[in-house]
Amino acid sequence: VEEAPPEAVTVFRSKLPDIDIPSHLPLHEYCFARAAELPDAPCLIAAATGRTYTFAETRLLCRRAAAALHRLGVGHGDRVMVLLQNCVEFAVAFFAASFLGAVTTAANPFCTPQEIHKQFKASGVKLILTQSVYVDKLRQHEAFPRIDACTVGDDTLTVITIDDDEATPEGCLPFWDLIADADEGSVPEVAISPDDPVALPFSSGTTGLPKGVVLTHRSVVSGVAQQVDGENPNLHMGAGDVALCVLPLFHIFSLNSVLLCAVRAGAAVALMPRFEMGAMLGAIERWRVTVAAVVPPLVLALAKNPFVERHDLSSIRIVLSGAAPLGKELEDALRARLPQAIFGQGYGMTEAGPVLSMCPAFAKEPTPAKSGSCGTVVRNAELKATAATIDVEGWLHTGDIGYVDDDDEVFIVDRVKELIKFKGFQVPPAELESLLIAHPSIADAAVVPQKDDVAGEVPVAFVVRAADSDITEESIKEFISKQVVFYKRLHKVHFIHAIPKSASGKILRRELRAKLAAC
Ligand code: ATP
Ligand code: MG
Repeated sequence: VEEAPPEAVTVFRSKLPDIDIPSHLPLHEYCFARAAELPDAPCLIAAATGRTYTFAETRLLCRRAAAALHRLGVGHGDRVMVLLQNCVEFAVAFFAASFLGAVTTAANPFCTPQEIHKQFKASGVKLILTQSVYVDKLRQHEAFPRIDACTVGDDTLTVITIDDDEATPEGCLPFWDLIADADEGSVPEVAISPDDPVALPFSSGTTGLPKGVVLTHRSVVSGVAQQVDGENPNLHMGAGDVALCVLPLFHIFSLNSVLLCAVRAGAAVALMPRFEMGAMLGAIERWRVTVAAVVPPLVLALAKNPFVERHDLSSIRIVLSGAAPLGKELEDALRARLPQAIFGQGYGMTEAGPVLSMCPAFAKEPTPAKSGSCGTVVRNAELKATAATIDVEGWLHTGDIGYVDDDDEVFIVDRVKELIKFKGFQVPPAELESLLIAHPSIADAAVVPQKDDVAGEVPVAFVVRAADSDITEESIKEFISKQVVFYKRLHKVHFIHAIPKSASGKILRRELRAKLAAC
């Protein structure tokens, strides 16, 4: 049997020249490489309190935390879980573990005890850094070992809490007391190979259960370098910039593209524990945020919320959206509100460590990008766009559907798994969602497939009406059918109070599908 000739596929590369990636450095050394030049520049800012740590103070804190963890028995290859919202201690613990050759796995503190235990077990965690309010979750699930303040052991669990001393739950150790007692000179010299793991992030669990992803020092250094290093960095920031860190650090987007990139570049990081519109707008104003990493639900809020007009957001020069599809309509709406800022997207996935493409307009020598595009392939990376499933070693299969246009810009249409199949025609929900949210009477929307005897599946929408709107199902259906080919028309519109979304900014379509199946 004659073999079919291999399909001709184009490999896309960055338009910018490759850079030298310092693969010999452990992540902490790489990130703090410029700390010596900028000892007094702000590094970590607790946005709510205003407590600011300079680069010198931050590095010292990290080394003290490393000494404290070492004294508790944490060593090379051990896994530490951080179960916290964004805060200074999160960042410090991450770097401290790196100093010891240990590995950080960060979990969403709003997860259930069962979910947290699953990640704890799968990662082989020895020690947890958390806050007293979450300690009960560790006690509620009988499969967690007994919490004991002694050194790291096999049948007990060491838990450090970041609260004030007197709020420390029984059996736990107060973080700041440990830091006060630690001697930064006692951090051991650890031989770290570039192939040692440093982070164990979990994917969002949008299409199934969250997957643990082992990222090595080399892979994280490469991911950061591809964004902020070189003569012409793709994501240009440096001393004087303030990066908004409101997206959760337990997700790789914020950890990598905000915290690690900013520290490497010498920029400050304004840490906010959660997304709350008023607080976020206030923090942008107060700290003169220049670089804002966001996700589509946040773009939606910024584009539609009337509060935005009352704040001075003129300091923002870059808005970087990622983690989920964002249509041209919403991008344009945000551009109109923040005319001085460059708005663009990055595209990535946890398994990729994470960034695959980035808006070229964020570069030091910017080139324009089209609305709706996810930018161009990052430097030192290669991307294939093909209709077929490729199975060649070394290539990461993203499961996303997209295309690369004549200007080498990457457009992500949707995920393969989310496609609705109407009589064999493919309907990407993200496309319909982007049209729906462009309607002034619609505050938010999501589209999912409904089983249908004739067509197999039909697209149906869940819609959140804008305040004071009484828009009807019929007018929404008509609004869409005027803009799309017949097979993309909506068959039903359900009104709902809020669209379920994950902490990393993705629509939880499986929850909506379950809702449909139940009705
Ligand atoms: P899981 O793999 O656990 O089901 P997940 O894929 O959502 O969840 P992440 O690694 O957090 O977990 O997300 C990566 C995915 O996010 C990509 O595969 C892609 O579908 C989506 N994504 C990221 N950035 C963009 C973007 N700019 N535009 C469209 N989609 C994006
Ligand atoms: Mg995925």
